[in-house]
Amino acid sequence: MSETRDSRTLPEGPARLSTRDADFNQRLDALLDWESVSSVEVQQRVDEILQGVRSRGDEALLEYTRRFDRLDAPDMTALTLETARLRQAFEGLEQTEREALATAERRIRDYHHRQRSDSWSWRDEDGTLLGQQVTPLDRVGVYVPGGKAAYPSSVLMNVVPARVAGVAEIVMVVPTPDGVINELVLAAAHVAGVDRVVTVGGAQAVAALAYGTESVPRVDKIVGPGNIYVATAKRAVFGLVGIDMIAGPSEILIVSDGGTDPDWLAMDLFSQAEHDEDAQSILISWDRAHLDAVEASMARLLPTMERRDIIAASLGRRGALIEVASEAEAIELANRVAPEHLELSVETPEAMVGQIRHAGAIFMGRYTAEVLGDYCAGPNHVLPTSGSARFSSPLGVQDFQKRSSLIQCSPKGASRLGRVASVLARGESLTAHARSAENRIGEDED
Ligand code: NAD
Repeated sequence: MSETRDSRTLPEGPARLSTRDADFNQRLDALLDWESVSSVEVQQRVDEILQGVRSRGDEALLEYTRRFDRLDAPDMTALTLETARLRQAFEGLEQTEREALATAERRIRDYHHRQRSDSWSWRDEDGTLLGQQVTPLDRVGVYVPGGKAAYPSSVLMNVVPARVAGVAEIVMVVPTPDGVINELVLAAAHVAGVDRVVTVGGAQAVAALAYGTESVPRVDKIVGPGNIYVATAKRAVFGLVGIDMIAGPSEILIVSDGGTDPDWLAMDLFSQAEHDEDAQSILISWDRAHLDAVEASMARLLPTMERRDIIAASLGRRGALIEVASEAEAIELANRVAPEHLELSVETPEAMVGQIRHAGAIFMGRYTAEVLGDYCAGPNHVLPTSGSARFSSPLGVQDFQKRSSLIQCSPKGASRLGRVASVLARGESLTAHARSAENRIGEDED
């Protein structure tokens, strides 16, 4: 198919591609390409901020908060909110909001309960016990973005799995530019079970969690999305603390058989595009008339959208409507893209889902709009982006649990294993290793 646009097409609309185009692979690669590495300037600024907080603690936190969030606090108590304040935020909400938060939290909790790993062990024929002991992390820091918008749903999605895992203490950080506090975010923190909120953001918040300051306790792992300063800081402190992932811009890929209302699909694509200009929305179908219809719906609906400028920019920059030759080709393409969100908007998604190998979350059938998973269905909305679904998984309870291996040798087991270990240790010329094993070799070997 050629790239011609008729009068119905969006001025800044998504690219029209076909797998039959000679340059299809090249154009798709260009659309998928996203540079995750931050600039040298961002890197330098983040390094400076990290060093500042590391050496000067709270004083630096207050200074950076003044500079980047225009919030002049006399001391850290002014930036620290305890559980009573979080409860107050919850109680101050409209009843519909309280109910929505509570319902979403319950569904997310129920889902994540099923993910818990338990400890296990068994004894081999010599009576030696082998197993693994699963324990929660002691203290976790949750970054909740707050620069340009507030994200109560991110609070639930990051905190609830940690709680389900049994994390003893959860510290949440969230910037409040100009001192403007979002009550829904604090209420979500109450519902999810956060122990304390510190209203700082950016690289300085990540530094405080990683190194600890006089008022912010050092944590074991930092989770949660954020802008380029947050992502760069998380990458820098990884190793000292654990991190969840470095998330790129959000993405949706929809496979449609042509049977879904084009207006529904247009809105599903918009719902991703309205996140930011770098977000990616792709529709794949083997029905060309259907792609035309969705394109027309998008052009008609765009002017009605509050965030139409962001949507138009995102679609123009990274959006695509792709015609494929067959259902099999659609599946192959979806696996190649490995999207964060995959909607299978088809009559029998059950027949297709088993062929999907790479996707963060799979939304099955015409009624399963991604937005339902974003907020309240139950599964986590923190998902691998930029093709990383090829090797990683959604945020989950496992991210807040760790395993210790267990070995308890019986005398007979120690004797038998000692003979094996001794041979291998002497092969490595590690005499102490060999003798440590040999000390436990008994006379009673069969
Ligand atoms: P943010 O909280 O990530 O960043 C705000 C902070 O950035 C400020 O507090 C400030 O300290 C720091 N900052 C801003 N400009 C700076 C500068 N020039 N120098 C040093 N520090 C500076 O909030 P945001 O900016 O709104 O970004 C949120 C990001 O999180 C977006 O990219 C959004 O798409 C993403 N997000 C992702 C998900 C997800 O689930 N993947 C969910 C919600 C948000």
